[in-house]
Amino acid sequence: MLRMRRSVLQRMLAVGGGGLLTAGAAPARHTSAPRRPDRDITSTRLSMRWLGVAGWELAFGGRSLLFDPYLSRMPYQGEDGALDPELPLRVDRAAVARVAADELTGPPELVLVSHGHFDHIADVPELLAQPRWRRHRIRTLCDLTSRHLLTALGTPAERVADMIPVRGGEYLQFDGYTVQVIPSLHSQGADHGYFAPDVLTAPLAKRPTTLGELPEGSTLMYLVTFDGGPSVLLSGASNYIARELEGLRPDVAVISMTPHSGIHRYLDRLLDVLGDPPLLLPSHHDDMVSDLRGGATNTVWAAPTKAAVTALDTAAEGRAVKGSRVLTPRPMVALDITGALR
Ligand SMILES: [Zn+2]
Repeated sequence: MLRMRRSVLQRMLAVGGGGLLTAGAAPARHTSAPRRPDRDITSTRLSMRWLGVAGWELAFGGRSLLFDPYLSRMPYQGEDGALDPELPLRVDRAAVARVAADELTGPPELVLVSHGHFDHIADVPELLAQPRWRRHRIRTLCDLTSRHLLTALGTPAERVADMIPVRGGEYLQFDGYTVQVIPSLHSQGADHGYFAPDVLTAPLAKRPTTLGELPEGSTLMYLVTFDGGPSVLLSGASNYIARELEGLRPDVAVISMTPHSGIHRYLDRLLDVLGDPPLLLPSHHDDMVSDLRGGATNTVWAAPTKAAVTALDTAAEGRAVKGSRVLTPRPMVALDITGALR
């Protein structure tokens, strides 16, 4: 309640200007109108397709990139509902092949991996091995832990050799777009702990067979900026290093919405440091196991998506000046990002 009243006050102050500030009142953080991009961001049409969990396809001019594509949706909970690290890694090869053939734009040119946990990385080897994509160059950006994991999980040797090892801080030029790699952090729940935070410093001796054998490594974010198109910040876990985001002004922010109660003012600080991005997309908010097929009537994804959208909307409403609009992703349905930014 207190925060709600303070945000209303801040909005009034923003409208009225600084002259209304009285002793003891918190100054409004934003006194300008929602920002407008200072460059052309609509010539290159961009669409984005949520793949479930933290996975996204970014498609532009018949080309595409993938972020954290995870389609197997394997069981991960023990009887107590908690993540059971002993459960087997069970890649759903049929699901991966079906999505690659029927849902995606085509072979991606890049696969961006945020960290090594199973729900981000387990299907990458199978995607990179799709027979129909064999003739296409697909490069994977990941840290060394993920590289060791992808190698041990059976990624074709030529794809491993073509990986781009990153550690955060890189600003990479590609044909028609750039990728900035941003050091980040993994989500932390109420008790501040989290699953499998280890780092691999050497190749694995054998192929991992359980969920717990896929450790985090270092969590990374990516900022993809298209020539003549928008910039998109991609996060795969509900945390960040605010210092590393300072000065970035993405047009679109994909925001992980896994439990984050252990993070101080998770959404408000994020919107603050990013300057209230024009478009927000919730991610990683579904149950990670249920079949997402079934269209708009499927409450398996509709209810958690609505909750995540509402949480983002509430955070945007609480800002001094609401500058962000929240889009509702539907699994496998391409969102017209360029149209939404006009
Ligand atoms: Zn995850």
